[in-house]
Amino acid sequence: FEARLLRSQRMESIGVLAGGIAHDLNNILAPILMSIDILKQDSRGKEHAHRMLEIVRASAQRGADLVRQVLTFSRGADGEYMAISFRHLFNELENIVRETFPRNIEIEFNAQANLWPVMGDASQLHQVLLNLAVNARDAMPVGGKLMFEANNKAVDADFPGLEAETPAGSYVELVVMDSGTGMTPEVLERMFEAFFTTKGEGKGTGLGLASVYAIVKKYHGFINVTSEVGVGTTFKIYFPVDPSLRSDSRAPMMIDNQRGK
Ligand code: ADP
Repeated sequence: FEARLLRSQRMESIGVLAGGIAHDLNNILAPILMSIDILKQDSRGKEHAHRMLEIVRASAQRGADLVRQVLTFSRGADGEYMAISFRHLFNELENIVRETFPRNIEIEFNAQANLWPVMGDASQLHQVLLNLAVNARDAMPVGGKLMFEANNKAVDADFPGLEAETPAGSYVELVVMDSGTGMTPEVLERMFEAFFTTKGEGKGTGLGLASVYAIVKKYHGFINVTSEVGVGTTFKIYFPVDPSLRSDSRAPMMIDNQRGK
């Protein structure tokens, strides 16, 4: 327990530091991006200059994306709280992944009927889904299967992964499963660390899962991950459901009678 506490304190201070840097960098990048856009307009007809500006713009944009990720990670979940259904978030994400993911990845979305809403910030919950989706895509360079699921779940005291700060009760279970490369025990151990990546220079930021972790923690949720090299990875994320948001006709015990051990 102490080791875990230490780790989360360290993550928090990294977060504060990173947030400060990201904020400053954001102010630096905004005028760069704006100027490039203006120069691009001016450089029409000058093919070489135009092409160079495309490259500069792509790099600056990558910087801006990284900054956005750092800010999400360091802010955790101070966002706009409202009742949100993963069914709605799935619809949004489905449009994006069907448009942008390679055709050799088979994609499936499944949200159970009468899914309970969770309290949260839509863009942060979307970020969680997107980060997991992008990792799954990257883990399937030759294609495979990507599945999203959302279920109502009654979680009792001996549920795997449940911690002191996440009491038993009603949760929405989010499942993201891929048939990708899987992770070695060493990678599994470190995957939530900020700036930890195996994707190589210029590809990964190592902030995807750190952001997921920070957001889920702020919402008092918890995460279970299973992964096997050559088989795939399953993320199960549990978000607590405010009892007042539950429809009483759907008592959780009726739905969850096959709790995993
Ligand atoms: P990044 O995606 O920038 O590398 P993340 O924090 O999102 O940073 O992920 C950290 C590392 O965890 C990845 O580099 C990868 O090695 C591993 N990882 C995360 N998700 C998966 C997955 N679905 N399958 C295999 N490996 C994964």
